[in-house]
Amino acid sequence: MKALLVCEYREGKLLEGSYELISFADRLGVEKAIVLVGSENAVPKADARVYLANAAAWAEYNPEIHRKIVLEAVQRESPDYIVFLHSSYGWDLAPRVAAALKAAQISEVASLQDGKFEVSCCNGKMRRTVTSATERTVVTIQAGAFSFSGEPRGVPRVEMIAPPVAASAVEFIGYEAAEKKDVDLAKAAVIVSAGRGVGKKENVAAIDALAKALQGELGASRPVVDAGWVPHSHQVGTTGQTVSPKLYVACGISGAIQHLAGMKKSEFIVAINKDKDAPIGEVADVLVVADVNQFVPALTAKLRK
Ligand SMILES: Cc1cc2nc3c(=O)[nH]c(=O)nc-3n(C[C@H](O)[C@H](O)[C@H](O)COP(=O)(O)OP(=O)(O)OC[C@H]3O[C@@H](n4cnc5c(N)ncnc54)[C@H](O)[C@@H]3O)c2cc1C
Repeated sequence: MKALLVCEYREGKLLEGSYELISFADRLGVEKAIVLVGSENAVPKADARVYLANAAAWAEYNPEIHRKIVLEAVQRESPDYIVFLHSSYGWDLAPRVAAALKAAQISEVASLQDGKFEVSCCNGKMRRTVTSATERTVVTIQAGAFSFSGEPRGVPRVEMIAPPVAASAVEFIGYEAAEKKDVDLAKAAVIVSAGRGVGKKENVAAIDALAKALQGELGASRPVVDAGWVPHSHQVGTTGQTVSPKLYVACGISGAIQHLAGMKKSEFIVAINKDKDAPIGEVADVLVVADVNQFVPALTAKLRK
């Protein structure tokens, strides 16, 4: 079995997440080949054939051209799996490739079970195990779910590809800088995050007070951000920031996979939850079973003494 890994490149660099694709293929136990629209200095270190399409001509994302590049590599390698990151690039390109190949697509794979794929469902509260009914399968993998450990090594065998490119109906206009963030959670040594369990917007102030008492920053789960209680720049998780502070305190957070993907690399995790069986308990070093709105103000008051 073989996987074609579609790596990502931006502004002269290979995106770090590309190594998660390699880790995925290794855990699946399949041979790997790589396709990259990028420059030679960005080719990942791996013992694999790398189909490199010239960044100077095609690096800026163009769905039609990148689809043709991936399909060209598919034709040459005949892989069983074509694997993308579950990123904005993967969201856009993977279904185009799947449709062209008439292949099943399995999106946002979070783990593997005996060669089958686990994906989350019911808003991240459950997981289901699926397999593909087609000969070939297009897969996107969840950020952080197949993290790469150790030093990248290996000697890639680079082969240039230049697909037949006709005039495109899509034109690249430019990049727009993201809104400037009022907080950089990635650099914080301590993060205290509010989850839906805090109950209402007014209760977030107590979580923020604990963050300040610990000289840390306020984080949040997605529902808290979606409700407008906390700005998006504080969101932790797959569609927020990935953080790895020395101390992470999860207040009224259940521990959905999308939240865990953003914080599970924290050095020490304390969770405060009224449910002793909340999934966050599986990653927490300490689980405090308590009402967050009683426990947190009491803890902050003690810390201030
Ligand atoms: C594509 C996609 C991307 C996503 N991206 C993200 C993301 O980036 N970040 C993210 O966080 N989520 C993300 N989610 C949502 C995720 O699936 C969960 O829905 C979300 O993380 C749940 O947030 P929560 O834990 O705050 O709320 P809930 O799951 O509702 O959990 C609330 C918890 O609080 C506890 N609780 C209730 N009252 C109290 C109390 N008084 N005291 C103590 N504990 C209490 C409950 O026992 C429960 O465990 C995403 C989902 C999808 C589908």
